[in-house]
Amino acid sequence: MNAQILDGKRLAAEVRAQTREKAAAFTGRTGTAPGLATVLVGDDPASHVYVASKRKMAAAAGIADFHHHLPGPAPEREIAAVLDDLAADPRVSGILLQLPLPAGKDSASLIERIPAGKDVDGLTTTSAGLLSRAAPGLRPCTPSGVIALLDAAGIDLPGKHVAVVGRSQLVGAPLAQMLLHRNATVTVAHSRTADLAAVTREADIVVAAAGREGLITAKHVREGAVVVDVGIHRTPDGLAGDVQFDEVAARASWITPVPGGVGPMTIAMLLANTLQAAAGLG
Ligand code: NAD
Repeated sequence: MNAQILDGKRLAAEVRAQTREKAAAFTGRTGTAPGLATVLVGDDPASHVYVASKRKMAAAAGIADFHHHLPGPAPEREIAAVLDDLAADPRVSGILLQLPLPAGKDSASLIERIPAGKDVDGLTTTSAGLLSRAAPGLRPCTPSGVIALLDAAGIDLPGKHVAVVGRSQLVGAPLAQMLLHRNATVTVAHSRTADLAAVTREADIVVAAAGREGLITAKHVREGAVVVDVGIHRTPDGLAGDVQFDEVAARASWITPVPGGVGPMTIAMLLANTLQAAAGLG
């Protein structure tokens, strides 16, 4: 392997430690801890694991925990009422509605009930609008984590060609905008892209966020490129990403592992967003 590792586990620990310091200062100044509300609907095992992990890390950073677990069949108006209460609760700095919701629930309209200032996942239309204007606001956590990893490694963005593979509202689309605001030249590839390898081979930096295990192979990456793998797939051999790690690492200059790359950064950025929201900078 030639590539250096973009170590998300280590950077996430640093971000969490900084957040803990800021949380302590906030609590000292205001007499109240910053608060994160997590709302979980139903019993999806992966969502349970994610929410438990977010709550544990938040508590370790000195952030107060407001957790609501609703049964899967809970009607939308009940979920809406919980979100409205949290929106009005001054102890709650940030609100996270864990996705995906059980089938048949209108997550888009429920997300819109979260006020932009408490939208620590950065998923409301208002947050997306602020991002599109490069105005201050809360940004989605995974794209923020990707950019923090590149910054920490000293990988310059201005003028670089970045290929973002995936255009979801959660990852690909906001990441492309954030990279544009950092003066990268951005190409967004997606499931209808005719020749993915032709696009990604042109790029200095490839971010894989397609949700397709092992999609990015050596032929997709030019020698010396930086490769960031957002994908998470549970396999019999453990977690895997969208990138064929071994063969791509042989060509890349930097690469994120899965696990230990983007994943830990997502939670760290959620905690950082909660502090930003608490400070009224949302
Ligand atoms: P999604 O399914 O909403 O979006 C996938 C995107 O990839 C779509 O825009 C689609 O057009 C594109 N795509 C699909 N197949 C493609 C192909 N063959 N070639 C090119 N583009 C293709 O998924 P998402 O929510 O954006 O998540 C993507 C992946 O990232 C998933 O594996 C998910 O588990 C993972 N994820 C990880 C984190 C983290 O913290 N590391 C956070 C969120 C999502």
